[in-house]
Amino acid sequence: MLYPAVYPPDPTLGITDPQMLPSPKFVLRSRNYPHRPCPKCRKSCPRDRVRTRTLHDLGDPLGGRPRDIHLTYSQHYCVRCRHYFTADMSGLAAPKARYTHRVVALAVRLVVEDGLPYQAASWHLWRDHRVFVPFATIQNWVEAGGEKGGRPDRDRLPRSGPRWLLGIHRR
Ligand SMILES: [Zn+2]
Repeated sequence: MLYPAVYPPDPTLGITDPQMLPSPKFVLRSRNYPHRPCPKCRKSCPRDRVRTRTLHDLGDPLGGRPRDIHLTYSQHYCVRCRHYFTADMSGLAAPKARYTHRVVALAVRLVVEDGLPYQAASWHLWRDHRVFVPFATIQNWVEAGGEKGGRPDRDRLPRSGPRWLLGIHRR
């Protein structure tokens, strides 16, 4: 039974094998169209092929499971401009990114606004949002944003955290 101000430990604490972690919940999304206008000349171009990518999104804190978006999208070829392009999915994630905009925005906010060290931000993302982001990745995002406020203390480890997380982070 739960009481106010009494909380159970994170169930993943102490897990050393990533295989033992809760499996992601897959969500299907589609940006798959028979025709799309060429971004250069606006000519309507038929689909050339269908591709897929997986995006890590903010997870389900109640169910305790990560959430992966399985995105199906179309690639098109413009015969006039002689180049390939894909259906627009910039609303979900940056090109070639493995994480959604939501994850990147939250991670950067934890460091820039809340002043968390990178490793603490990484642990927070896992514990409260069930998305695993290596701290070096968060560091890249923050430095790419170029708007870091205070200087996070990168040497300070979070007080608690599953050993698998710390192990991955240790370089
Ligand atoms: Zn074109």
